[in-house]
Order: sequence, then C-alpha cells, then structure tokens
Amino acid sequence: MQAKNMALNYGNFRALEDIDMDIYEKQVTALIGPSGSGKSTFLKSLNRMNDLVEGCKITGEISLEGKNIYGKNIDVNELRKNVGMVFQQPNPFPMSIYDNVAYGPRTHGIKDKKKLDELVEQSLKGAAIWDEVKDDLNKNGLAVSGGQQQRICIARALAVKPDVLLMDEPTSALDPISTLKVEELVQELRKDYTIVIVTHNMQQAARVSDYTAFFYADPAKGGGHSTVIEFGE
Ligand code: ADP
Ligand code: ADP
Repeated sequence: MQAKNMALNYGNFRALEDIDMDIYEKQVTALIGPSGSGKSTFLKSLNRMNDLVEGCKITGEISLEGKNIYGKNIDVNELRKNVGMVFQQPNPFPMSIYDNVAYGPRTHGIKDKKKLDELVEQSLKGAAIWDEVKDDLNKNGLAVSGGQQQRICIARALAVKPDVLLMDEPTSALDPISTLKVEELVQELRKDYTIVIVTHNMQQAARVSDYTAFFYADPAKGGGHSTVIEFGE
C-alpha cells in the first residue's frame, strides 16, 4: 500500500499532514510515535474505518495495488475484507469460538459446512491457537484468556483471507507471555501477509518490524499536523 500527500482532518482539527509512506508487501511496518501523534488515525484510514467517524475528511491518496481506496467505484466491504484489522482490546464476539471465526466468511456468503469447517481450522492454525481450542470450538470466545482471545480475533481476521493485516497495539492489553506469542505469530504471518502494526514499544518495533514509520506532531502548530519519517530495514 502507499500513501501519497495524504492529510486528515477531524472537523477543523488537522490530525495528519503530508503523509507519504510505502507499505511493502509481506513486510512488517511498525508505526511508532508519541500518544496522540496520529498512529491509530492513520492505521484506520488504511481500511476506511475512518469513514465511520463524523467530520473526518481525507485528502491526498491511499492506494492498494495501485488503486486509490478513496476513489470512485470502491467497494468498502471488499476493501475491509482485503485489509483486516485487529484491535488493542481483544474483542471476540459473544458467541462460540467457531462462530467468531466463521463470522466473516458467513457474511461473505459462504454457507457450506465443510468449507466453513476448513476455513475455521486453517485460520485458527494460522493464528497459532488451533491446538489450544480444537477440542472446544463451541466454547464462548469470551470464556478464554485474554491472550487466547486476541489470537481468536487474529483468526477471525484471517478467515476472510486478507492481503493486509492492520494491528492496533495488539499486545498492550496482554501479559508478557501472551505478548511473546503474538510477536512470534507476527513473524510467522509476515510470510503470507502485509502487516502494519501500531506499537508504543520501541523494543517491540525493533523485534517485529522490517520498516518503521515514526509519527510526530508539530508542537509549533499546537499539536496535530502530524507527519512521518520512515526508516528502512
Ligand atoms: P495515536 O494513535 O498516535 O495515539 P490518534 O490517532 O488516536 O493518535 O489521535 C491523533 C489525534 O487525533 C489526537 O490529537 C486525537 O485527540 C485526535 N482524534 C482522534 N480521534 C478523533 C476523533 N474521532 N475526533 C476528533 N479528534 C480525534
Ligand atoms: P478502537 O476503539 O479499538 O480503535 P473503533 O472505535 O475503531 O476501535 O471500533 C469500535 C469497535 O467496533 C471495535 O472495537 C470492534 O468491536 C468493532 N469493529 C468495527 N469494525 C470491525 C471489524 N472490521 N472487525 C471487527 N470488529 C470491528
């Protein structure tokens, strides 16, 4: 993906300015920078989650495979299928582990039980949690540990076969062991997915990423007006 001369306003508040960034395929790009510098805002603009925020206006361009995702004739549902998202707070739906993972494929019209079984197994394996839950797929997604919940959410995102996976501080609500598991998982996933991960942890950025984009707000302009510096491998 690529951002070109991108800027974003929340009403009159200019959060992002002059953002030029390359997000390379099958690499991990970490977004770092102080709290309030616009990392989460930028992340959400990569799958148009920002369209849900009133008064949010984006100029410039963000493209996926050369196509402006804010352009005409863009199917936002299709875009969100290609660009999946995992949040800071694990948020499994209050339903079984199976139904959590089958949720995306079902909303995209897949009904065949065998096909769904296959996708659920593949996705839970892909999120390195299959062995822990395979005997209890009917268990509620909320009835497991936070670390397991987060990997179930990752499996839910993988189930619709995205190209890009956005992760918004995916480990900051997790204990150190669960954090390690998710970091190891990110290393596995990078073989198949383009990953953009927001973290406030510099060590984590160094451990998991190939590229780092540092966000900083301009104090001379009263905060906001964030731009980025990108660092290579
Ligand atoms: P970060 O993820 O780096 O902590 P955010 O992207 O959450 O930063 O926020 C960037 C700036 O945009 C902050 O000043 C924040 O207060 C502001 N902001 C975030 N979301 C909204 C919103 N929905 N409406 C207005 N301002 C917002
Ligand atoms: P956050 O406050 O974690 O940045 P948002 O405010 O953007 O998250 O979204 C609120 C909630 O909406 C999310 O925590 C999640 O439960 C739900 N949600 C919205 N879009 C999606 C999606 N594509 N996949 C999963 N959950 C989603």
